[in-house]
Amino acid sequence: MRLTLAVLALCLPALAQTPWRDQGLLHLAASPHARLHPVPVRSVTLQPGFWKARQDVAIGRSIPTLLALLEEKGTLDNFRRLSGPPAGGAPAVARRGPLYTDSDLYKWLEAAAWSLAVRPDPQLEATLDKTIATILAAQEPSGYLNTWFTGEREKLRWRQQTSGHELYCLGHLIQASIAYYRATGKRTLLDGAQRFVDYLLRDFGPAPKRPLLTGHPELELALAELYRTTGNRQCLQLAAYLFSGVEQERLKLRPRDLAYMFSGQPFTSRTAFEGHAVRALYAATGAADYYLETGDPGFRRTLDLLWADLSSSKMFVTGGVGSRPSDEAFGEPYELPNRQAYTESCAAIAGLLFNQRLLAATGEAKYAAPMERALYNGINSGMSSSGTLYCYRNPLAATAKDRIRNPWYDTCCCPPNLQRTFAALGAYYYSTSREGLWVHFYDNSTLDWRLESGAPLKAVVKTGQPWRGDVEITLRPSKQEEFTLFLRIPDWSLKTRLSINGRPAPEAPAPGAYLALKRVWTPGDTVALTLDMETRLVYANPRVPEDNGKAALQRGPLVYMLEQPDNPGPSVFDVALDHAAPIAARFQPALLGGVTVLTHRGLAYTRPLDAAPLYSFQPAVPARPTNLTFVPYYAFHDRGPAGMTVWVPVR
Ligand SMILES: [Zn+2]
Repeated sequence: MRLTLAVLALCLPALAQTPWRDQGLLHLAASPHARLHPVPVRSVTLQPGFWKARQDVAIGRSIPTLLALLEEKGTLDNFRRLSGPPAGGAPAVARRGPLYTDSDLYKWLEAAAWSLAVRPDPQLEATLDKTIATILAAQEPSGYLNTWFTGEREKLRWRQQTSGHELYCLGHLIQASIAYYRATGKRTLLDGAQRFVDYLLRDFGPAPKRPLLTGHPELELALAELYRTTGNRQCLQLAAYLFSGVEQERLKLRPRDLAYMFSGQPFTSRTAFEGHAVRALYAATGAADYYLETGDPGFRRTLDLLWADLSSSKMFVTGGVGSRPSDEAFGEPYELPNRQAYTESCAAIAGLLFNQRLLAATGEAKYAAPMERALYNGINSGMSSSGTLYCYRNPLAATAKDRIRNPWYDTCCCPPNLQRTFAALGAYYYSTSREGLWVHFYDNSTLDWRLESGAPLKAVVKTGQPWRGDVEITLRPSKQEEFTLFLRIPDWSLKTRLSINGRPAPEAPAPGAYLALKRVWTPGDTVALTLDMETRLVYANPRVPEDNGKAALQRGPLVYMLEQPDNPGPSVFDVALDHAAPIAARFQPALLGGVTVLTHRGLAYTRPLDAAPLYSFQPAVPARPTNLTFVPYYAFHDRGPAGMTVWVPVR
């Protein structure tokens, strides 16, 4: 690690001169190992379509109603109670909620800040200013800020590093402060967050300083972004120290802690994901950030190993992650249970963030594919169409007894995590590199930004995605410009047609890769793709015991499910797909806000399986024809709890 720090010292200072308005979700302009560079959040405007409807609900309904709930549950009062004059002991009002609630407010703030970047709202901005003042009034002169470990619990400060979430909360404070700075140019919260980091830098680190551990990783990625924002490379060095695992002895960490927390041991000694899924994926995301800044080959090797482990054996077909409710943890390879799936919304988002960094490092489509899978399915499912009910878990099968969508959780991590994703969604669609413009996801949207040469560039995407395969991209450079347009051809689009200005182009789009179109582009040039929207049966690796003999339906980026309200006949657990029968697709504008449904003449068992014996000398065979209707998975339980399954037996 000493060597790494020396390398760090050489490749700096990289204080970026980019104005705050032009910094993206990640600010990689000066990151030496980033091939792609994000566009600013404000540069992408979603136009009417699939995702704008979701963003509208997130910004218009979800963000304001969650603030009211955070207020009602005392999350803001937890700050207010600390801001009065000290009365010599505990504040008069009791603190409410679990020890990590500060992070819920910070994440809400981040979501609201990104929403200002895409949709300015003076009233919301004034609310944020007031909220920030409330937060900072609770900050101690030392820089320390945490409402749980202040007052009556001050003596416990830094004594519960495996479970205390002090650094987790700080990580979200930093991310919120950066979002607000990039949306408004206001530095108040950023300066407050930096004061807390300065306090850590003063007192914590290798002996003789006090030891530090992120029991719940998150600070690592926030420190990398703080470094990118302020140019203070000590922030990155602190992240390096946290990844070094040098404090195992001083902190008396047990092997179980190291596995569960996915921190405390050298990051580069990891070979597979284990333990708490969100912790592990946040740690890996922070490590990918560290790689983007340093190019450390040991980190790159570990990131490659972890990515392969995740994508080959630990990710659900919905992009969800985390197999076990116990410890909210990864399971063994191929341990992917459907009804018991833990698949926290935050874990799917963490997978998105992990792949986002690796995509920026490489420009390889294999990292964009799981991002798309998660966005359309296992993340999209996390918020109801009303914007007021949220999933903590996103299982792949459920019954009418399962209450999965709820307006509030005492551990309220997922709702604001979903909001910050939807609020800034357009910023995931595009990147630039020295060669030109990259389009990762096709959604009705306009980009108003520039090439890395500095030449202004607008792009307009019009598409029927995710229901239809048509995509039309109109490029509007201010004058003729030579650059490469990189278009991601999704891995599910096995046959893609391409035309430029209405004529078939010579390039052959290959699935699961970026198509590079190098041209002199004239304002108004159009590129049209026709993506392959054939419905396909997806089969799991036979080592996944739960999915043996079953298939899931996928059409475009969407994974489908059978849900009882669309199937009034037999239970959705008592039917099978008929391999020989076709699957028809039809758009139904009045259903679930407008979705394409899939219909199929399947098979049912002659009597309900719950009336059949548990064991028998003859296999039960579904033989009775029955009509089956599939709808997109993301809408599960949107009409209330009901039987639901993604994986269905195939005959
Ligand atoms: Zn969560």
